[in-house]
Amino acid sequence: SSKEKGRDRFSYFDPKLQQIIEEKAQMVEELRKAIERKELVLHYQKQILTKNNKSSVIGVEALIRWNSQKGLIPPNSFIPIAEESGLIIPIGKWILIEAINQIKLWENNKEKRDWRVSVNISPKQFERDNFVDLLDLLIKEYNINPNKLRLELTENLLIKNVEETLKKIKKLFELGVTLSIDDFGTGYSSLAYLKQLPIHELKIDQSFIRDILIDSNDFSIVETILSIGKKFNLEVIAEGVETKEQHEMLVSMGCSYFQGYLFGKPNKPDSL
Ligand code: C2E
Ligand code: MG
Ligand code: MG
Ligand code: MG
Repeated sequence: SSKEKGRDRFSYFDPKLQQIIEEKAQMVEELRKAIERKELVLHYQKQILTKNNKSSVIGVEALIRWNSQKGLIPPNSFIPIAEESGLIIPIGKWILIEAINQIKLWENNKEKRDWRVSVNISPKQFERDNFVDLLDLLIKEYNINPNKLRLELTENLLIKNVEETLKKIKKLFELGVTLSIDDFGTGYSSLAYLKQLPIHELKIDQSFIRDILIDSNDFSIVETILSIGKKFNLEVIAEGVETKEQHEMLVSMGCSYFQGYLFGKPNKPDSL
């Protein structure tokens, strides 16, 4: 009919798109209330050091979970929305406080008092002028050893506003927190730039670990990252290690730090 043709040609009102927009707006509203309602929680996944055939836990990575009223929502589904809406600023601050609190709690735990805690930092959060001051304040307020706090940054965050970023990274280093480059190998940083940064760790992206036993390209990439780590004197941690075979292969290649389901899934702090 002519009515339908008209709709085809001028479909500025798309009910499906409208629905997506409304759902997103609703999610932002729900997320806005999530902290107060205590729906956000940090789970922690163990990080392992293997030395002389012995594996021990040396730290954890904090990974956020949202127990929303509609069910459990994974970080990949709400962190981007938190970033878009600006809610990542209060949420990111909550994450830091929560992780610092956990460090504090574990100070009284014989088994866990030496564990360091790695926290994922969103670019939006890092870019804020007061990011370093906020960390400085929290570290002093909670009186934690800053060495126990490790920040996971991504390569793409590091290559934005290089001058500004370099200044911030140096200040963070002076504060005593340690820095890790997450998902290493998937971004766009250059080695020339990396060598200027006082970082401590490269985290090999799990996409290179998954098929390391069967894909010679992945094997070569991991080999290269390990040799960069060695030359720059950085710790290298493999993420997404799921099998004994992957672990053994990585050990034989000279990798010492591991994280993945083989050693434990992310869990509540008391269930680790
Ligand atoms: P990421 O930082 O690279 O975290 C690693 C992801 O791999 C986590 O997913 C973890 O649960 C998962 N993982 C760990 N071991 C294995 C394994 O053996 N096999 C497989 N297949 N996966 C494994 P998760 O918790 O869903 O987090 C996804 C991403 O969301 C994170 O990637 C990070 O970019 C972001 N994210 C998580 N928590 C936070 C947070 O507190 N703040 C910010 N800004 N981002 C976060
Ligand atoms: Mg991470
Ligand atoms: Mg990662
Ligand atoms: Mg990742």
